[in-house]
Amino acid sequence: MILISACLAGVPCRYNGTDFPVPELSRFIETGKFLCVCPEILGGLPVPRSPCEIKKSETGTSVLGKDGKNYTEEFFRGAEKVLEICRKNNIKTAVLKAKSPSCGCGKIYDGTFSGTLIDGNGVCTELLLKNGIAVYTEENWKEIPGKYSNDSNG
Ligand code: SF4
Repeated sequence: MILISACLAGVPCRYNGTDFPVPELSRFIETGKFLCVCPEILGGLPVPRSPCEIKKSETGTSVLGKDGKNYTEEFFRGAEKVLEICRKNNIKTAVLKAKSPSCGCGKIYDGTFSGTLIDGNGVCTELLLKNGIAVYTEENWKEIPGKYSNDSNG
């Protein structure tokens, strides 16, 4: 079983009420080998919602909305729920949406809402990685070793 960002599977749960479907991943989901989650929804946020970006400082990580509100609590709550789901389902691999403040892996926006990317991970991705779960994105998921990558033609 692999975890996947719900928006990649066609669920319109992004901040602006859209999805980001990856057709090849959707085919995989039909096999029942994937479990879809949206950490921001699990954290209690609605659709639509304010776009958010991560801001790091000496005091820690904050998640701030473009609307000026602080959503740190919701993001961390959602990440904890996703980790719990992974533990309950013995999930060791995730395919999450690139650049998201929750799901991004390797690159995220810098907190200035200017479209500038920096090195870093989304809140959920960071927690999963710290707990030994391998995280890929829709950009590199074919690199997953083993049967999932080999199943792509099946
Ligand atoms: Fe998609 Fe993750 Fe954002 Fe939810 S939190 S909309 S799953 S990128």
